[in-house]
Amino acid sequence: MSDVRVRIAPSPSGNLHVGTARTALFNFLYAKKTGGKFILRIEDTDAERTSQAYIDNIFDSLKALGLNWDEGPDVGGEYGPYTQSERFDIYPKYVQKLLDDGFAYECFCTPEELEAEKEEATKNKKPYVYSKRCENLTDEQKEQFRKEGRKPAIRFSIKKAQEAFYDNPVIHFTDMVKGDLHQDTSLIGDFVIMKSNGSPTYNFAVVIDDMLMKISHIIRGEDHISNTFKQILIYKALGAEVPEFGHLGMILAPDRSKLSKRHGATAVSEFVEKGYLTDALLNFVALLGWAPADGVEIRTVDEIAKDFNIHELSASNSIFEYDKLNWMNSQYIKKLSTEDLKERLKPFLTKYDLSELNDEQYTRMINATREPLTILSDITDAVPYFFGEDVEIDEEAQTKVLDTDTAQDVLKTFVDMAEDWEWTEENLHQKLEDFRTMYKEKGVKAKVTMWAIRAAVTGRTCGADMVQILMVIGKDKTMKRAKKAIK
Ligand code: GLU
Repeated sequence: MSDVRVRIAPSPSGNLHVGTARTALFNFLYAKKTGGKFILRIEDTDAERTSQAYIDNIFDSLKALGLNWDEGPDVGGEYGPYTQSERFDIYPKYVQKLLDDGFAYECFCTPEELEAEKEEATKNKKPYVYSKRCENLTDEQKEQFRKEGRKPAIRFSIKKAQEAFYDNPVIHFTDMVKGDLHQDTSLIGDFVIMKSNGSPTYNFAVVIDDMLMKISHIIRGEDHISNTFKQILIYKALGAEVPEFGHLGMILAPDRSKLSKRHGATAVSEFVEKGYLTDALLNFVALLGWAPADGVEIRTVDEIAKDFNIHELSASNSIFEYDKLNWMNSQYIKKLSTEDLKERLKPFLTKYDLSELNDEQYTRMINATREPLTILSDITDAVPYFFGEDVEIDEEAQTKVLDTDTAQDVLKTFVDMAEDWEWTEENLHQKLEDFRTMYKEKGVKAKVTMWAIRAAVTGRTCGADMVQILMVIGKDKTMKRAKKAIK
């Protein structure tokens, strides 16, 4: 059994972001590759920003992506609970240990006093670092503050930890992705590990949880590198083993800014609602930071897992190319079986009365319209003419086609002749072919002839194969629409 234990630890302050999905995927792949365990922990210590809806969204999105966890809030496990807010009674013991060992101290500063310090730093154009004025308070001073009704927060003493474990204030660690990383610890302020209301802060809770959950490798975004130095010092101060860290480059928008709503969808559930397939999305995010040696980009998670090597993850930023995702999604749609696609498209067809079509007609409609689909929701606007008695004629179809004398002539002839046509696929092919040939002999291009029929029957100048359309809507509607288009 492998000792590898990795985790994804989202904070439920929003729906599951594609960036988090990528982090989850790389952790999942690493567990898969090494025979290790993949753990889900919900980091909901920030009660104000947390909501149950976001927690549900995280669960649902990870499940939809197939990133199933071995241990987590819902499935349990040996090291639970896996939701931070249910772990509040675990943290004080470790705070006390740090206090007892001199790696932490009580801080009685009020928010106003801290604000004043920050303003002073801004005024002097200096980065803000806590003044440590509470580090060496005497018992009397503490007593006095308590009498004033002040409740202490607990701060971690960076310098004490650095001096206890390192010769130099500049400390290093070897990142699995980025190699050697270092930080001058004199620039890190003594940060709060437990607030005056008793709730732990992220940097502290994450270490305690990762330690107690025996997490061996921490793979996450590079925005956490500055936290990692703080966290390493806490592990050391607790006498715990420091896990391996791997920090991934960030995901940027095509304009190289942080990926945000203004660029398009960012949450996994938003992509799903728009009709992206989770397999395509997963394949796409895997390529944001990982490149297959053979250059074959379309691959399943199992195929990716086979070739996955954590040391090959990219340390640089990746660009979230929506165009590439669209292409990839279209490739995944093409691979779906008709039956599968028929089901998956239903949520995007709710504005139509599907009961108008029997299964054969519905199948025909889907097969006739699936080719250009980039996302599943493209189907909504691709099929209105398959439904209802009449059809809405768009501007181009009206002015460029139906208003011409040629189209009017074609339609009159069509109405006369088609009345006698037997409405089978094979026969319609033949009849339309003959019809075009007949008009060609009169000097009308085949394309123009078909435009007239298409414009009358679908209200558009382009769309699915005409025979398939005629087969789905049937003879009666075809004749009715064609007659209506004649002036
Ligand atoms: N809750 C943190 C976040 O969502 C977890 C970071 C980590 O992986 O340690 O950013």
